[in-house]
Amino acid sequence: MSLLFPALHAASSHTALRFGERALSYHQLSAAASGLALRLEPGAPMAVWATPSMETAVAVVAGLLAGVPVVPVNPKSGESELTHIVTDSAPGMVLAEPGAELPEPLGSLPRADVDLSDEAVSAAPVPPTEPNAEAAAFIVYTSGTTGPPKGVVLSRRALASTLDALEEAWEWTADDVLVHGLPLFHVHGLILGVLGPLRRGGTLRHLERFTTEGVARELAGGGTMLFGVPTMYHRLADACASDTDLVRALAGARLLVSGSAALPLHDHERLTAATGQRVIERYGMTETLMNTSVRPGGTSRPGTVGLPLRDVDIRLMDDSGERIPVEDTETVGELQVRGPHLFTEYLGRPDATTEAFDGGWFRTGDMATRDADGSVRLVGRKATDLIKSGGFKIGAGEIENVLLGHPAVAEAAVTGEPDEDLGERIVAWIVPASPQQPPHQGELADLVASQLAPHKRPREVRFLDALPRNDMGKILKKELPGQQG
Ligand code: ATP
Ligand code: MG
Repeated sequence: MSLLFPALHAASSHTALRFGERALSYHQLSAAASGLALRLEPGAPMAVWATPSMETAVAVVAGLLAGVPVVPVNPKSGESELTHIVTDSAPGMVLAEPGAELPEPLGSLPRADVDLSDEAVSAAPVPPTEPNAEAAAFIVYTSGTTGPPKGVVLSRRALASTLDALEEAWEWTADDVLVHGLPLFHVHGLILGVLGPLRRGGTLRHLERFTTEGVARELAGGGTMLFGVPTMYHRLADACASDTDLVRALAGARLLVSGSAALPLHDHERLTAATGQRVIERYGMTETLMNTSVRPGGTSRPGTVGLPLRDVDIRLMDDSGERIPVEDTETVGELQVRGPHLFTEYLGRPDATTEAFDGGWFRTGDMATRDADGSVRLVGRKATDLIKSGGFKIGAGEIENVLLGHPAVAEAAVTGEPDEDLGERIVAWIVPASPQQPPHQGELADLVASQLAPHKRPREVRFLDALPRNDMGKILKKELPGQQG
């Protein structure tokens, strides 16, 4: 396989990474990471204490140069999550930024600190040997939205395949300057958001902490692309009402990309109205990296996650395991994917790995329909978003989209609960925009019935102060009061 990061080997003075005030050129990054790579023990995986920092990016690149599988660890992990990840992946050492205090059981592992001193970044880069394409590059833990996080083994082949497919789909070049403030322990922020620019020879400007002002500043100062999760775009849409600098900065960007969860239609519409831009949605998973993306320049299609990326095959399967024909744009089925971007295995779980595949096709667990042009419309997850009520299969997402369009609704989640007559009854969980003036239940139910169909009307509305969400802003439906865990 060709080199994962050709630009790193060219070691130019072009800026590779900027975190806040600190920047590293490709030469400096190459020096720091290749120096660090020499200190890593080959063999066992290596944990990286993945704070949103330059040190994390350099540690990850060092692991990749050394051919040591990298396990990014969320520094905000709770004790049991941390124990799960460390026991499961059995790292031989941990890399961290100097001074970071590491909790147990990470604290007792052999540790190396990332050195970004003037000396380290100006040393002569050491040319690495490129490991085999099938070797494990990462063990990334899933977001844990539907159960305990699973360790996903990703090869260099899978990384290269997905990043090059995105290059084509988004016309991503070395001139692009990507802006984001995503965490660095998942696919979105780390593999797309750090390795993407490095594979292209472009630049990342990381916000360290997401703020709408930071986005405005970095886009106005030369950023061309923005990556975010829906909760970030929601905040940007809110801020556009009063921040004209932000409106101008977003309007001037080349590409605004959203992923990790569905971007509500209401936020799509607000952002387009304010900035003239349409946010591009892409769909991926830890196991599959990126599957589909809306292409820039085409017609605006809020609500779809676009067409398959290069080399990605997709199919929809009905309940009886039959393939849904491409001409059928109505029937909801499970999305299955195949291609060189797929993961190798769930770490230490051969049964789960076998179960996840249907003859070479990965079962995503996401339910979808396909438009006539092949664009994928996600309906929701089989496990938490598909409600079977009155003989109908109903996706929670379309109901949530309608509820979010009501001015008195700030957040909405829809679930199904056992019901004697209906099988399941639709329940709407609402965070009111103003706690003093919650919307009327009947009004919300009528709104849904008028925009969708009468059987999609919520039978019950429950009010909450906030929805349970994880660090990517994904709604944790299993943590709603009284839900099954
Ligand atoms: P776990 O597998 O531990 O339950 P998770 O599935 O949330 O957690 P990830 O691999 O980070 O972990 O997320 C992948 C999932 O995120 C997809 O299966 C899909 O449900 C959702 N997703 C990703 N992108 C989008 C998108 N653009 N629109 C809607 N959903 C998305
Ligand atoms: Mg998952």
